[in-house]
Amino acid sequence: MKKIVILGAGPTGLGSAYRLHEMGYNNWSIYEKNNYVGGLSASFRDKQGFTWDIGGHIIFSNNDRFNRLVDNLLHNEVLTFKRESWIWLKNNFIQYPFQSNFHMHPDKELVFECVWGLFENFQKKGCYKNFEEWIYHFFGEGIARYFMIPYNNKVWACPLNRMDYNWIAERVNVIDIRRILKNIISQKDDSEWGPNNTFRYPLSGGTGGLFNRFLPYTHGRLYLNKNAVRIAPDRKEMVFEDGEKASYDVLISTIPLHELIDKIEDKPGWLGRSAEEFLWSSGYMVGIGIGKPCPSNKNWMYFPENDSPFYRVTYLSNYSPNMTPGGQFFSFLAETSYSRFKTVSRDTIVEETIQGLVNSKLLKEEERSLIVSTFLMDIPHSFPVPFIGRDDAIRNIQSFLAGQNIYSRGRFGGWKYEVGNMDHSVMQGMEVVDKILLDKEETVYKI
Ligand SMILES: Cc1cc2nc3c(=O)[nH]c(=O)nc-3n(C[C@H](O)[C@H](O)[C@H](O)COP(=O)(O)OP(=O)(O)OC[C@H]3O[C@@H](n4cnc5c(N)ncnc54)[C@H](O)[C@@H]3O)c2cc1C
Repeated sequence: MKKIVILGAGPTGLGSAYRLHEMGYNNWSIYEKNNYVGGLSASFRDKQGFTWDIGGHIIFSNNDRFNRLVDNLLHNEVLTFKRESWIWLKNNFIQYPFQSNFHMHPDKELVFECVWGLFENFQKKGCYKNFEEWIYHFFGEGIARYFMIPYNNKVWACPLNRMDYNWIAERVNVIDIRRILKNIISQKDDSEWGPNNTFRYPLSGGTGGLFNRFLPYTHGRLYLNKNAVRIAPDRKEMVFEDGEKASYDVLISTIPLHELIDKIEDKPGWLGRSAEEFLWSSGYMVGIGIGKPCPSNKNWMYFPENDSPFYRVTYLSNYSPNMTPGGQFFSFLAETSYSRFKTVSRDTIVEETIQGLVNSKLLKEEERSLIVSTFLMDIPHSFPVPFIGRDDAIRNIQSFLAGQNIYSRGRFGGWKYEVGNMDHSVMQGMEVVDKILLDKEETVYKI
């Protein structure tokens, strides 16, 4: 029986662990560098009693196997929501997505420019070589300038002309000109688009509440505080920071792909050079706890403008009454990206976030005194950028790794943002076990 070792106990690693348990497989272990499980989908409770996620996390999926697993793990301890997501632009909120709702903005010059951009582009032939050109091509000058370009610059923190557009599918609402015209004429909000227009959230423990429920299935095989620092594929051995070693026949790695490559001993030169091409954004996630009841029923809001550092703010306390110390409190969770292309000061991000909330009229100047908790999470890997050349790089790297009995999967392990959500990650973890043990084709992560 092959010894299977899983590196990382985030959703992908836990998905693999769950599947091995389900199959009754007996020779496996899982190693995690943190002293908790859940990875980017973990949650933390602060001293004041607020629970914080690492950025707004909601559960939604069209994968039946994942949805059944969530039902089994959470039973009825989960809440269901209809999306209330908004965009703050020029002192007004309009519903998300922008391209279906810009006509509701009171600034009629903005509306005209967006419509005119669409007409100019209607049935335009032409080519586009990167994400930035793709945006202008499909949305026209107005929508691009008011929303798509500034918002994407804020999220990705990476030059948009270094990004590909081949990942878009479910992630960006492309233009349906007939639907837009109907919306404009009938002056109607159109907020139904998208795979996440209804979503679920655990009743307790935040998003991490879901992943803690995988723990019983890892019984005795989970090792925390184990930071892998070197991997020797020839000896099939992994070395940890504390000097301990673990041997494997097959390694399922869920750590960022470029870091995995860095750790591999005696690798070919091209492999190391490939890892240097990878681009990603990091994030500051700032929680702000306020001592008054929540004034809004919104879920989250997008911020394309530069009078706030964040690209998104969630009313986290609206997801469950258990997210705050009591009903007389509410919480904001603000997300700001940074990268080697865009620096943001860690020292001032909390204060800049509060100022951004004031500038965006989410908090009144005099309500600063009601802030009872601030919580800063500095996340080195937040968004895996679909950089130009990514798919070829991944294909070559994964084929080399598979030859060494190493399977790299997950949000940063597989580096495919389009299949990098929690459902995709758990399923990648489960499906790679099916591939290794049953030779089944994977359906979520395709190389
Ligand atoms: C801001 C933000 C918002 C998001 N919102 C949503 C959402 O609304 N809905 C949704 O479905 N998904 C969302 N996601 C995505 C979700 O967080 C990921 O899909 C999921 O956490 C990825 O799981 P993973 O196991 O692949 O990676 P990770 O969660 O990154 O887990 C990898 C694990 O490997 C461990 N590790 C790393 N290096 C080592 C090492 N050297 N040795 C040992 N262990 C190591 C890490 O500590 C970590 O626990 C969001 C992500 C972000 C950043």
